[in-house]
Formats: sequence, C-alpha cells, structure tokens
Amino acid sequence: MDFRKRYIVEPGSHVQLDRLDPNDTGSYASKEEAAKPLQACLCRMRELQYRMYAENKRSLLIVLQGRDAAGKDGTIRKVLSVMNPQGCTVTSFKVPSTLEASHDFLWRCHLVVPRRGNVAIFNRSHYEDVLVVRVHALVPHKVWSRRYDHINAFEELLYDNHTEILKFFLHIDRDEQLKRFKRRLDDPGKQWKISDADYSERPFWDDYTQAFEEALQRCSTKHAPWFVIPSNRKWFRNLAIARIIVDTLLDMNMQYPEPAVDLEEIRQKYHAAANASE
Ligand code: ADP
Repeated sequence: MDFRKRYIVEPGSHVQLDRLDPNDTGSYASKEEAAKPLQACLCRMRELQYRMYAENKRSLLIVLQGRDAAGKDGTIRKVLSVMNPQGCTVTSFKVPSTLEASHDFLWRCHLVVPRRGNVAIFNRSHYEDVLVVRVHALVPHKVWSRRYDHINAFEELLYDNHTEILKFFLHIDRDEQLKRFKRRLDDPGKQWKISDADYSERPFWDDYTQAFEEALQRCSTKHAPWFVIPSNRKWFRNLAIARIIVDTLLDMNMQYPEPAVDLEEIRQKYHAAANASE
C-alpha cells in the first residue's frame, strides 16, 4: 500500500473531514499485524536520519497538528523518538509569549526550522495561527485570512532552501476524543495532561473542523503536502506516519559525503606498522 498516495491531500482538492474515516487501518487488520512492519520502518528511519546528518545538505521539517488528544505527543514518543537527538529538535508551540507575540506569527517558527542535515519536529506549529486564532477570533478576519498565503510563501522558502516538509493532521472523531479524556482522568500518569481547555474547546468542534479543512485545502502544496492520518487506532497512526517519513527520506536519495582524506595514505601511514607487529 502506498501510504503517501492514500492519505495525501492533493493540492487544490476539496477536503471534507467527515468523509474520511478515522478508524481506517488500510490493509492491516490488527496491531499485531502492523508490529513488524512498524519496527522495520523505525530501523530504516534511524539509518536514513543518520545519512541526512552525514550528508549535511538537506533537512526535514515534520509538522504535527490535530485536536486535543489526537496523539501528537504519542507520535513523538512512539515513532519520532528513534531519531538521534544529535540531529533532531522538537518544538512544542504554546500560546505565544510576550516576545513572540510582538513579532509576526512566523517569527518563532522560523527560529527553529531545521538546519542543514537536521530534522525538526513541530508539535503544533504556525498553523495554530489559522486554527485556534481563527476559531476564537484572536485577531480580525482580515489578518488571519491573509496568513494562508504567508504560510505557503514561508514553506516555499524553506523548500527552496532544501528542506523537505511533511505535515500530518491526526484525524480522530468526537467519541474517540472523549474516550481519551476519560482514560486520562483514570490514569494517574496522565492526569497532569488534563486541562479545562480540553473540555471547553469541545463545543467548538465544528468550527475547528472548518478551520482545519480550510488550512488543509489551501496549504497542501507540492513542496509541503498535508496528510490526513486516520488516528483513532494509535498503532495504525504510528505505522502510517513512519512509512510516509521513510518513503520521503528514501526518495531524497541522500549520500554519505566522500571521505575528506586519502584513505589509502592514512592506512599506510598510521596502520601499516601496527598491522605488521600484530
Ligand atoms: P498541548 O495541548 O499542545 O499538549 P498545551 O495544553 O500547553 O499543550 O496547549 C497549548 C495551547 O497553546 C493550545 O491550546 C494551543 O491552541 C495554544 N496555542 C498554540 N499556538 C497558539 C497561537 N499562535 N495563538 C494562540 N494559542 C496558541
């Protein structure tokens, strides 16, 4: 199954989230069936990230968006944690600080985009500025409505600077969200995550749907595609995201740089005598 083809938002296409099944598990029937392919993918991801780091020419930006409890943290913990921290950064975007709010909305994101050879993971992102900001009218319509073009131009700039961009919308339904909130209530290790906002945002579900649909529609581009990942089943979400990242890294066809020294000369100079005396 080609995960990219199946879950990509084709540039210019119309998105209706309630037509996309959050329970979809592709051709996989169970978590057990997906376990081996996921492990294989994670190993491959680690190798390919190493290659990207060594090549030091290109970079990868991974954007995670979704409603509360959609699984952004879980995806980082279960999938993206295989990345070597030496070549990877994670940024969680919260309500902007005073300093952040005194700049344009892309400023804080631009500061943390990946440098050459690195991967950057955005847990929430510049898209909050057309999501929560739009739903709660935190700025006037004429301000947020121009941001889709700003975002597209920003992402194109990154792409032109050799950054591949993958954006994942983790798609869950209302019932699944409520179930996850309930589980948090019952799990002492997760109670710290519960906030009033989780519940007070639920009445805005449809407004968020509209905001997500417009962002997906207007900002899925050839150089920075959006993927809608069915995420009611965490194991499938993990597999789908891992596969899409690995397939993208494979297509980048990264190469180890040529050694900077003459290997034969080094062998002769520093190792020949040692070999002879062994
Ligand atoms: P998370 O839910 O990501 O684990 P928090 O519970 O701290 O972390 O929530 C972060 C909050 O910050 C979210 O409610 C999100 O909508 C909000 N936020 C992020 N970016 C912005 C922004 N640009 N403007 C306003 N609110 C934002």
